[in-house]
Amino acid sequence: MNHVGQEVTSSKVETATPVAPILNSIKQKTLLRTMNCVGIALHSGEKVSLTLRPAEANTGIIFRRTDIPGSKEIAASWENVIDTRMCTTIGNEDGVTISTVEHLMAALAGCHVDNVYVDVNGPEVPVMDGSAQPFVFLIECASLQEQDAPRQVIEILKPIRVEIGDKMAELVPRDTFSVGFEIDFDCEIVAKQSITVTMINGTFKKEVARARTFGFMHEVEQLQAAGLGLGGSLDNAVIVEDDKVLNEDGLRYDDEFVRHKVLDAVGDLYLSGGMIMGSFKGVRSGHTLTNQLLRALFADQSTWRYVDFADRDSQAEPNLAAKSVEVVNLATATA
Ligand SMILES: [Zn+2]
Repeated sequence: MNHVGQEVTSSKVETATPVAPILNSIKQKTLLRTMNCVGIALHSGEKVSLTLRPAEANTGIIFRRTDIPGSKEIAASWENVIDTRMCTTIGNEDGVTISTVEHLMAALAGCHVDNVYVDVNGPEVPVMDGSAQPFVFLIECASLQEQDAPRQVIEILKPIRVEIGDKMAELVPRDTFSVGFEIDFDCEIVAKQSITVTMINGTFKKEVARARTFGFMHEVEQLQAAGLGLGGSLDNAVIVEDDKVLNEDGLRYDDEFVRHKVLDAVGDLYLSGGMIMGSFKGVRSGHTLTNQLLRALFADQSTWRYVDFADRDSQAEPNLAAKSVEVVNLATATA
């Protein structure tokens, strides 16, 4: 199998955006006001409305199906993940589900939103443009407010890894939150790509949020024949056919494919229920392995602990106060 990768590049980028103190504080945050958007559901193809509402401290991220009166809330938790085949689906004990939560979860993580009610009037979060950017925009329009409760961070104490065949996902201790990914498709334009993004000072928004979901034309045809992906189009996914990107405007990042995998991982990891202090790495993995990694993590109490930063001097808290942005992009070619 031949893979053609990109040139090896490695760069350290100084952030251009001044960091507002509120973004680096240690208190929990929610939205200042309620925001709504309407979009297409990827699988049903139907219009769906999404509303983000402020929530009290220690609420977490709570999804609610407003089209099913009286249905129980679904907490955005790794324990409530019931399907990871096409996207991440969460559900409650009554069988009420919400699919495709991962891009919204990534935006909430990237924007440091701890508490919010997510009201959806259908079984899927709208796909929007296939990235997290429209949700970041919605959150920014809502603005954030600090709450009178400390944010608890999940500190990874020792490495933990899950593997299936040649797929791998792991978390290792680190004093920041970083997400690395390697993909390896038998397709020239996607091929081998890898990247590590340290999530500080707006890197999520700049380096990850705009990366769209992607698929291969033959998969799209199979899906739609099975009555799925009916809302999928070049407006909400990068579609590859015969080593070509079919989207007229091309890619948003040269390595948009692997950046989207980072985006998915950020969203799926936020189902841990908090910000993580540790380094994630995924190799050819996806929603399933990330969820299995969280299940393995929380099954072993020696691998993690909650750190309450309110008990610490904020000056001594390096991961949220760091000054530089580290983006290492190591794409290698193999023959
Ligand atoms: Zn995705």
